[in-house]
Amino acid sequence: MTQEEGYIKFECDWEEKGFTFAKKNFNHINEWRKKLHDLELVGVDEQGVGFGNISLREENTSRFYITGSETGKHTDLTKDHYARVLDYDIDKNWVKCTGKVKASSESLTHAAVYESDPAVQAVIHTHHDRMWKMLKNKLPTTDPEVEFGTPEMAHEIKRLMQQREVRIEKIIVMGGHKEGIITFGRDLDEAGEVLLKYYNVIG
Ligand SMILES: [Zn+2]
Repeated sequence: MTQEEGYIKFECDWEEKGFTFAKKNFNHINEWRKKLHDLELVGVDEQGVGFGNISLREENTSRFYITGSETGKHTDLTKDHYARVLDYDIDKNWVKCTGKVKASSESLTHAAVYESDPAVQAVIHTHHDRMWKMLKNKLPTTDPEVEFGTPEMAHEIKRLMQQREVRIEKIIVMGGHKEGIITFGRDLDEAGEVLLKYYNVIG
C-alpha cells in the first residue's frame, strides 16, 4: 500500500449556521487569539496559508469552540469566525461542527488533548520556526514520521499526554509537523502563558 492510499483525508460534517457563544467565553478566547496574532503565532505564512488555532472546551463536555479554517489572515475575529465542534472520530479523521465557518482541519489534535485530560480547558496550536527547532526533542516530541492532520498524529498526542512530564509542562512539539507546537492548560490564560514563557525566551 502506498502512503497515498493509507492516508485518511480529514472530513468535516459541517452545518453552516451560527451558534450561541457565551460573551464571556468569546471575549476571553478572542483576546488571546488577538494577542497571538499580534505576535505572529497565529497568522498566514509566506505562501498565504493560514496557521495556528486556539480552542476552548465547552464546560464538562467533549465539545469545544475553535477558530475556523482560513481565519489566520484576519487581525480581529468575530463570533462568526469560530466553529463549535460537536462530535469527532479520531480514527475516521472526522469532525462534526457548526458555525459560519468550518472547524480547522487540526481540530482532532485539539480533541486528542481534551480527551486525554479532563482538566484541560484550552488548547493552542502555533507555528514558530525558531521555537520548533530549539525545542524539538528537548521537550516531549511526536514521532517525526507522523504527519499533521492524520489519525496517527492524534494518537501520538494521546500517547505523550500519558506522560507526567507532559501534563506538568503542558507543551508538546510536533516532530512531523514543521514549526508545530501545542500548549494547553486548565484555562486559556494558562495555555497562553505556557506558550509565551517559551516565546519570550526563544522567540
Ligand atoms: Zn499546524
